[in-house]
Amino acid sequence: MADAALRKSAEECTSERAAALEAQYGHLSAEEVLKIAITEVFEGQIALVSSFGADSSVMLNMISDIAPDLPVVFLDTGKHFGETRRYGKVLEEKLGLTNVQTVLPDADRLAELDKGGFLFSTNHDLCCHIRKTEPLERALEPFAASITGRKRFQNSARDRLPVFEADGTRIKVNPLASWSFEDLVDYREQHDLPAHPLVEQGFLSIGCMPCTSPVEPGEDQRAGRWRGTGKTECGIHIKTPKGETFIRRD
Ligand code: SF4
Repeated sequence: MADAALRKSAEECTSERAAALEAQYGHLSAEEVLKIAITEVFEGQIALVSSFGADSSVMLNMISDIAPDLPVVFLDTGKHFGETRRYGKVLEEKLGLTNVQTVLPDADRLAELDKGGFLFSTNHDLCCHIRKTEPLERALEPFAASITGRKRFQNSARDRLPVFEADGTRIKVNPLASWSFEDLVDYREQHDLPAHPLVEQGFLSIGCMPCTSPVEPGEDQRAGRWRGTGKTECGIHIKTPKGETFIRRD
C-alpha cells in the first residue's frame, strides 16, 4: 500500500478510536478524564502541551496531583512575554512539576525564513508554523496523544470541541472542553493558584508578545490574539495535510 494510503488508513483508525473514547469517557469530569488518559489509556505515551498562559495553572495543578513527572511541553517561540517565562518557573516550582520540556524553533529554519526576527509583522501563519507547529510536531513525535487546555467557550472556532479529538495519527485530549470562564476562576480560587501577572492588565489569553493585546469587556477570551487580522489559531490546533509545503502569505 502506498504511503498516502497507509497514512489515510491510520488516520481513519485514530478518528474511530477518538470517537470511541469520547463515547466512553467524554462525560467524565476533567480530573477523571486526565487520570484515565495518563494512567490507563495512554500510559507512558502522553504529554501535556502548556503555554503557561492565563488559564494554564488549572491543568498543571491537576497534572501535579496525578503525575507530576508527566512530560509538559512548553513551546518557547522566542517571542513570549518575560512575564510568561517567569510565571512558568513559578508554577513549575510551586506545583512540583519535574518534567517541563522547553522546545525551541529550529535554528536553521529561523535563519532561512526569519533572520531578522520580524516575520510576525509580514506573515503570521509562516511565523507560527516555524516557531510553533514544526517544533511541536518534533516534540510530540514520541507520543500517541497530547493534552491541551482548550475550552469551548473561548471562541466560535472551538464551540464544538470534543474531549477526545483525532489529530492526524495522534489523539488530543481536551479535559476542560466543557468548562466555563467561571469554572476556571472558581478552581483557581479553591486551589489558591497564582494568576499570570498580565491577567490583571486585561490579557485573558496570552501568546507571543507581538501578537497579543488586552481584551475589552464583552469580547471573546481570545479576541486579543492576532487582533484585526482574522487569524484565530496559531496552527498547532488546525489540521493540515502532512508534508504540505507551507507557502501561504497573509
Ligand atoms: S504568535 Fe506571533 S510571534 Fe508568535 S509565532 Fe505566531 S506570528 Fe510569530
